[in-house]
Parts: sequence; structure tokens; C-alpha cells
Amino acid sequence: MKDSENRLRLKKLYGLLSPCYLCSLNCGAERLNGERGVCGAGVKMKISSATIYKGEEPPLVGKTGSGAIFFSFCNLKCVYCQNYNFSQKGNGHFVSVSELSEIMLHFQEKGVANINLITATHFIPQVASSLILAKEKGLKIPVVYNTSGYESVSVLKLLSGLVDIYLTDFRYGTNEWAVKYSAAPFYTEIAKSALKEMFRQTGNLKLGESGIAKRGTIVRLLIFPEGLAELELSLKFIKESVGAGVYISLMSQYVPVYKAKNYPPLNRKITKQELLKASYLLRKYGFKNGWIQYL
Ligand code: SF4
Repeated sequence: MKDSENRLRLKKLYGLLSPCYLCSLNCGAERLNGERGVCGAGVKMKISSATIYKGEEPPLVGKTGSGAIFFSFCNLKCVYCQNYNFSQKGNGHFVSVSELSEIMLHFQEKGVANINLITATHFIPQVASSLILAKEKGLKIPVVYNTSGYESVSVLKLLSGLVDIYLTDFRYGTNEWAVKYSAAPFYTEIAKSALKEMFRQTGNLKLGESGIAKRGTIVRLLIFPEGLAELELSLKFIKESVGAGVYISLMSQYVPVYKAKNYPPLNRKITKQELLKASYLLRKYGFKNGWIQYL
């Protein structure tokens, strides 16, 4: 990637920071003037932790793990969020662009499979600056953009060539659930457009010799209690958008934490029967690539 292209990319990304239109909420917060967005983020980049993590899908962790960077704050307000301490309450510490680039290079020295940016949307100009700096200093391992899917297509286009792997949720099949449980209006339309753009940039998952992911898109589907109708709609949307060959990660790990006890039916874990029916739906719609997380 040429210097001039990266300069233009950063100019456009920083141009969306204040008033902020970095995510699909488009809240317009004047972040450079001290305002914080609906996501909670101000102008300074904040992370909860940077750690070698083995909890992702097998080709993203291999034997060495993924270099995971968990960003503080989030644009979705999920009532069941497992990470609410940093996603909603904003716990964490500030890092500069150069500090984040050093973290990335340090991970590479440790031999991790990739740099895993977890919910970075609201800090993407600063994160892109760190990535460019780290790449100038020799960062070569794949970059994973780990997201809720509630992304702006114009921002995703500005990540083309910087991100190798998109690891995206397709959380809901109806906007009714998206608004009720995540305060994310028009989620289904936004997630569909975003998925198309991610797939356009990276294509389907490609593995290297050792089975480690090099490039591509993985879609995560979290099974909710009484959520099979939502899941079925999501599968239809995904198939329409990028085809049934895309890699799907079907996740059974839902636990009713944070405010979920007040939001039935999300106030319980899923059952084995629900997991079996969800696996059946994958087959019904022809999805054969990916992983199923068993209970
Ligand atoms: S990233 Fe945060 S500040 Fe920016 S538009 Fe989205 S919610 Fe608002």
C-alpha cells in the first residue's frame, strides 16, 4: 500500500471522527470538542486489555493463540453483554497510536496467529494509524477485524487492504429484536450491507499451510433462547448476501448476564434441543463450512 493511499485513507477516517459518523448510529458527537458518543467513546483511544487469547475459532488461534486487543466502549447496547465492564462501563486504559502499534509488534514477536481487533469501530482512525505504523515497522501477520456487524460500508471501504480477516456477527434476523436487545435500529439492513462489503474485500476463508487463517470472512451466529426464528432469518439473509459457502461459526455460549434477567426469553441459557435445531437449520440452508460450538 502506497504512502499516499494511506495518507488519504487516514484523512478520510479522521474526517469522520468529529462530528462522528464512524458507525451506523451516526450520532454526530463532537469528539474533538470533548463530547462522547452514544457508544461512550471520547477522542482518546482506550483498551480494556491486550492478551494472547485462545477462545476464537480454530484457524484464528492455531497453537499459539490470537493477539487480542479488547477495546473499551461499544456502539451496541446489548442487554446480555458479557463484556459490559468495559463495553458499557468503559473500563480500561488509554493508549496512544504508537503504543498500540508497539503492542501489535510485540504480539508478532510472541508468534501469535494474528492481530485480533475486538470491537474497534469507534476508534478506527487511531487503530488504522497504529496498523499503518506497525506495518511500516514490519508487522506481517494477518489482521482480524472482530465486529458486531453494525458497520458503515463507507468506513469498511477505508479498511480495504489493512484488514485481512473479517470476523463478524450476524446477530439478529429482525430489527425488532435488534432494537429491543441491542438498541441497534435497522440492524438487519446494515449488517447485510456490511457483510457484502467484507466479503467483497476478502472473499471466503483461506487457510495457510499450518491451517491458520490468512484471509477471508467468518460469520458468527449466536443462538438465543427462543431465537430459532431469528437465526433462520439471519441464515436466509447471509445466503442471499454472500452465498452458503461462507464459513459460519454457530455459537451456543449465550449466558444471561448483565441486564438479561429482566428480558425474557433471554433470561436463560439455550437448551440442547435449541442447539440441535439450530444445527439442522444450517444444513437446511446448505451451509457446510465452519464450526458448531457444542454445549
Ligand atoms: S462510533 Fe460512537 S461516537 Fe461515532 S457515530 Fe458511532 S456511537 Fe457515535
